[in-house]
Parts: sequence; structure tokens; C-alpha cells
Amino acid sequence: MALKLFIPGPTVVTEDILAEMCGPMMAHRSAKATEIQKRISENMQRVLYTQNRILLSTSSGSGLMEGAIRSCTAKRAAVFSCGAFGDKWFKIAQMSGIASDLFSSTPGEPTTPEMVDAALSTGKYDVITVTHNETSTGVQNPVEEIAEVMKKYPDVVWLVDGVSSVAGAKIETDKLGIDVLLTSTQKALAVPPGMSLCAMSRKAYERTAAVPHRGLYFDLRTLWDFIDEKNYQYTSTPCLSLMYALDKQLQHIVHEEGVEARFARHEQCAAFTRAWADEYFRVYPNRRYLSKTLTVIDARPRGCADYISIPKLNEGLATLNLQLGNGYGALKDKTFRIAHMGELCLEDMKEITAAVVQVLKL
Ligand SMILES: *Cc1c(COP(=O)(O)O)cnc(C)c1O
Repeated sequence: MALKLFIPGPTVVTEDILAEMCGPMMAHRSAKATEIQKRISENMQRVLYTQNRILLSTSSGSGLMEGAIRSCTAKRAAVFSCGAFGDKWFKIAQMSGIASDLFSSTPGEPTTPEMVDAALSTGKYDVITVTHNETSTGVQNPVEEIAEVMKKYPDVVWLVDGVSSVAGAKIETDKLGIDVLLTSTQKALAVPPGMSLCAMSRKAYERTAAVPHRGLYFDLRTLWDFIDEKNYQYTSTPCLSLMYALDKQLQHIVHEEGVEARFARHEQCAAFTRAWADEYFRVYPNRRYLSKTLTVIDARPRGCADYISIPKLNEGLATLNLQLGNGYGALKDKTFRIAHMGELCLEDMKEITAAVVQVLKL
């Protein structure tokens, strides 16, 4: 029996969504391909509260991170990082030869509106990047407050990494004024890995004209234009199997569960998991900025100076067909992570937390 995953991606995919991937191949230049991509786009707009154009990419989320910063930076990018995934965006910028500066927060702390204001007031930047939900530390950044600051800088293009929160936490793209919000399939969307999507504003699209070398495969302008030229199709051959699954899952999210109900379920799971963590351990990040899709927990039980062995914990959990996440990067052995994203519900959180107590004999 497969392990039930409580890791922050890939997340558990339901049987009916997995089955969609076995659908027959079709021409990717057919009316049917248009119909599927169009329906994915329309449902995704509802998940993201946006009228912006939805672009698809046959790549994991990192591909669109690269595409977004390459396509939109004409001058210089300010990369705000509060953990490993923010750092990754900076690495992408450096390796792509994009002029950029890194603004880091202490681990467990958020990117603040003050940091953004201070950087942008220099006038040096035409792009900023923010991680909505930092999966390595369990911080959800205060994008509503950052949005207030961004109103002062209408010429700056705002890129947001929502890989581990889109479809799990509410992000009102248009109200906030986010220019590119990107995500991938294998986390809160609960589809197998391999595709990513973003919502792109016209302002970001217009910016791309000022950037001469945007690459090709991840060029957001090429992806955008192709939707007009070929009526909602993809520039090369997309992973059709994943599109079948994504199409079906988005119909489920929007029309069966409902986006608001989905967000409420995640909140309920988050509240339960945090309360449990408080009882036996301690949540790792600053409590004012807790993620809604995963809880990162300090791996020292209450009243105990030593870290538990997370590999041993997972060995014990595996006998119950369960798996949780170890820490990420520098926090690998110091924290563990319980994801409550995708299709997991309160009963599942009760199951994993009770199992941790049982295995560790807490
Ligand atoms: C997982 C993750 C990524 C990387 O996404 P891939 O789809 O694995 O490329 C980027 N940012 C965040 C916040 C993530 O959680």
C-alpha cells in the first residue's frame, strides 16, 4: 500500500484524478485541446480571483519562476527571501544573468512591507519577487500589507511565488495587484507533478517588450501571444495527461467543493495542527505569520533539549503507512513539517498527529 503523504508536495492525488491521466492521446492542435486549456484557464481565474491571463507551462513551478523573472526584469530585480525558496529565486536570477539584489529575513520571520518600501524607494528596481508561502519555514507573508506599499510604485512589476499555497489559501490577485502569481500542480492543487501555471497582468506583459533576451521556452510573452494566435493552445507539445487531470481537479475545486469551502477546510486543518504542535512541541515560525497549508514544527518535544530523529519518526510512521516531511535545507534535522494541503481533511490531521504521539511515545 502506498504511503499516505503529509509532505509539502507531492500531495495525495485522489483515484479519480489519477485515472484521468490514462485518457487517450489527442492532437494538441485540435479543438478539444483548446477546450481543455480554456476551461483550465477559466477555472484557475476563479481560484486566483483574477481576470488576468492564465499561462500554462509543462515544467514544475521552478520553470515559471525562471520565466517570470527573466521575462519581466528590464532594469533590476529586488528579490525578497524569507527562506530556501526565496533564495532559489535569487539563484535563478544570478544564473540567468539578471541584475538583482537579495533582501533576506531572519529564518521564521516574514518579508515585511517596510523592507519592500525601503528597497523600492531607491528607484533602482523595476521588479520585485515575494514568496507567498515559504515552505521551508512555514511563514505566510503579509501580501495584503505589501500590496499597500506597492500602490506607491505603479511601474514596478510584482512577481509572487504561490507554489505551496495557491488553491489552499485565498490570494485575491486583482485586489492585491499581483502581476504574476505562479504555482505548480503537485502541492495544494493535488495533481501529480509536472505542470505549472501563472496569472499574468497586462502590465507585466507590456514590460516584456523592454526585455530583449527572454529565452524561448519559458518566455511569458511567447506563451501569452500564442493564446491569441492559436486560441488557447500551448506553444509546444504540452503534457496532455496532466492537463486532463488538472482540468478535472479544477472542476472539482471550483464546482464541487467550492474555493471558499476549500480554503476553510485548510484553515480548519491548520488550526488543529498548530494546537497539537503547541501541546507537544512548538511551532517554528513567528506566530503572526503562520502558513495555512503546512505547519513547521521545532523537533524538540516540550521540556526536552534534544531533537528527535526525524528519519526514525518516519520509519515508525511508515509501519502505519504514513509519511511526514523532514525539515528543509538548513532546518532539515531541526524541524519537521506536516502539510495540510490538497485533499487532506481534519480526520487526516487527527490520524497523523495521533500516529506521531504513538511512535514517539509522547
Ligand atoms: C515546492 C516549491 C517550489 C518549487 O516548485 P517545483 O514545482 O518543485 O519546481 C517553489 N517555491 C515554493 C514556495 C515551493 O514550495
